[in-house]
Amino acid sequence: MSDGGKKERMGSDKPVASEGRGLEEASPHREDGSLQATGMDRRDFLRRSGAGAGALALTGSLGGLLSGCGSSATAAATPSVAAPGTGPEVVVIGAGAFGVWTAYHLQEMGARVTLVDLYGAGNSRSTSGDETRGVRSSYAGRELWTEWANLAMERWREFDEEWSPAMGDPLFYTTGDLILRDTTEGQIEEVREVWDTVGVPYEVLSPDEVRSRWPQIQIEGIEAALYEPGAGVVRSRAACRRVAGIFQQRGGQIRIAKARPGPVEGGRMVSLDLDDGADSISADRYVFALGPWFPKAFPEIMADRLRITTMGHVFYFGTPPGDYRFSYPNLPSWGFPGVTGWPTLPPDNRGFRIRTGGRVGEDPDTSVRWIPEEFHERPMEILQERFPIIAQQPIVETRACHYESSATRDWIIDDHPEMENVLLAGGGSAEGFKFGPMVGELIASRALVDGRFADLGDRFRLAELELNEEED
Ligand SMILES: Cc1cc2nc3c(=O)[nH]c(=O)nc-3n(C[C@H](O)[C@H](O)[C@H](O)COP(=O)(O)OP(=O)(O)OC[C@H]3O[C@@H](n4cnc5c(N)ncnc54)[C@H](O)[C@@H]3O)c2cc1C
Repeated sequence: MSDGGKKERMGSDKPVASEGRGLEEASPHREDGSLQATGMDRRDFLRRSGAGAGALALTGSLGGLLSGCGSSATAAATPSVAAPGTGPEVVVIGAGAFGVWTAYHLQEMGARVTLVDLYGAGNSRSTSGDETRGVRSSYAGRELWTEWANLAMERWREFDEEWSPAMGDPLFYTTGDLILRDTTEGQIEEVREVWDTVGVPYEVLSPDEVRSRWPQIQIEGIEAALYEPGAGVVRSRAACRRVAGIFQQRGGQIRIAKARPGPVEGGRMVSLDLDDGADSISADRYVFALGPWFPKAFPEIMADRLRITTMGHVFYFGTPPGDYRFSYPNLPSWGFPGVTGWPTLPPDNRGFRIRTGGRVGEDPDTSVRWIPEEFHERPMEILQERFPIIAQQPIVETRACHYESSATRDWIIDDHPEMENVLLAGGGSAEGFKFGPMVGELIASRALVDGRFADLGDRFRLAELELNEEED
């Protein structure tokens, strides 16, 4: 960055902005149709993750704690909350799901936080900027994701209980999620296994039960169905704006600016370069949550660890006037092999949503986010085959966005190898949105090295694994 640029310390009175399934695979009930008990509540989880004490021991400077940065094992053992306005200064770059929830949690932990985004929270280019995202916990073979998704549902509901009365319509809608497959082998068995281990409530449904409960779905050829009653759909773009808005109301600063790493001294980034050197901002710690922009901003580290060239296609179809069978709460979110969707949600009424495979897109700044007509046939075929009652309805909206898939297919939450006060957080890998309330806390905790989540050890750290040697 240019040293000649105007440098500011955080918390200045700069202008601020206003408030603000893909690789989605399949997705609970015992064989007899009864619900199973949830195995772990939030308190259990917090105890296990070491977060029970609440927060962070830092006041003013990060001091000695940052010398341990890079290993949660070296972090403070008993976190406590810094007095408001006295905590470390942190800049979060990127206001998608990962960034806004990180800023929110950092602030709750007592840090003084500025959130910077190139286009604003919930913008249409961001991967989090679509209207809706599915929230389910059916991750075959992935216990932690299943556990965290289940806990995230609870957090989304709690967040709505706390904030909706003051800020408007809820963000999270409990639709339930229905996985439909032609055989119980493979995914259905594996999902049941992980749900049984974690203790997620579910129902196993026969094809006749599915037909009787949701006659508007055509399930010819389907032999196996699992239903997760606690799953739902979140209004994603609105969620980014709301979390950012609450952050701002509580004194957080929001800047709309292009950021890039500034000068480095003694293995620490001194300041963040804004708008190509026109401005800069300095803080104790920097968290980059750039989604598909990571390979552009940090090519040496991320180009071989994140694939961002596959774009997913999302279509919203109109629902017939006066026919509420395709509107919440009359239909669950659903997943046939390779395609997922859900009912139109109040209060936005964007339409009945279908996600299909997508196309190639190289650059998140320039790729076109609407879907050209040559790709419209596939969702129409799906409607014809699975939802024939609305097969004649028009497409009312399309959204394309970049998947940011990591080589390990897991999140990346780790320190920059050459800048000890810089944390990199991304790799949502087609599933990241739902985890926002949980993963934001993990990122904030790693940024502040507060010792929460010590149980995770080195999970989500930068792996040696690169894209050309991806796991199967
Ligand atoms: C088609 C599709 C369907 C999906 N479906 C689901 C689903 O059903 N459920 C689910 O949980 N997940 C789903 N996902 C995945 C989920 O949407 C993502 O994992 C998540 O939104 C990623 O959030 P993020 O904050 O990492 O990235 P983003 O939301 O992309 O945010 C990155 C932000 O960084 C900003 N930025 C970039 N460069 C700079 C810079 N230099 N300076 C300042 N700011 C910058 C951008 O403007 C952007 O706002 C889906 C993804 C796709 C593509």
